[in-house]
Amino acid sequence: MRHDTSDQVSHLVLTPGAFDRGDAVLHPSLGIAASRSSKDFRRTVLELGLASEADSSVCRWLFGAATSRAQLLPDGWRAIHVALIHCAVGMSRCAALALVSSVVGIAAGLSSLIAIAAGGLLFSAAILVHELGHVLAYRALAPADSPGIMVTCGIRCHLVRKTLTPKADLAVALAGPVAPAIAGAFLIPFAAWVPLVLWAWAALALSHAVCAALPFGDGETIRDSWHRARGGRRG
Ligand SMILES: [Zn+2]
Repeated sequence: MRHDTSDQVSHLVLTPGAFDRGDAVLHPSLGIAASRSSKDFRRTVLELGLASEADSSVCRWLFGAATSRAQLLPDGWRAIHVALIHCAVGMSRCAALALVSSVVGIAAGLSSLIAIAAGGLLFSAAILVHELGHVLAYRALAPADSPGIMVTCGIRCHLVRKTLTPKADLAVALAGPVAPAIAGAFLIPFAAWVPLVLWAWAALALSHAVCAALPFGDGETIRDSWHRARGGRRG
């Protein structure tokens, strides 16, 4: 069944390398496509990073829904800092809210508000580290010119990438959930000065590690890669 998709692609800007073939939007170098016959065509286009929402006005930033934005990553290690900036901009509203809350908390002497604001910043930072783990592993294990698209929608971020060998896919999928734990090791020398931050980060790192065991997202990719690496089928 074909659905009317004319209004579903309005106000979208195609990602470099993606093109509209009429019946589908494709990104040939990544081998991904969103078919117009799909009921969730617009959502699929945005989730796959084939396009970005064009409306990024200050008004929407302040009061509207989060804007879905896709960034084609450059070749080589420059992808790391491009992904970092792209994800950080996507999280800017959450970070701004946390900063304003902490300033109000300090001015009003509300320690609970300061703690909530600090928790929000740490939560955002852990997501940032998680995604950078994926990008770092992808650049380390795939050819330097392997295409990748970083997609952000507010605090949600994910990497769209090519499928690699099973072992490389397993490593790239695992790199995200374990990255916050690895980054946490660098906080240990400061444990005496900021024990609460260390404990909060440890809790966040644990929650990301648990993602590897979930039946969707990274957990699903890890299980698929594991079964492919063993030459078997998913059970
Ligand atoms: Zn992940």
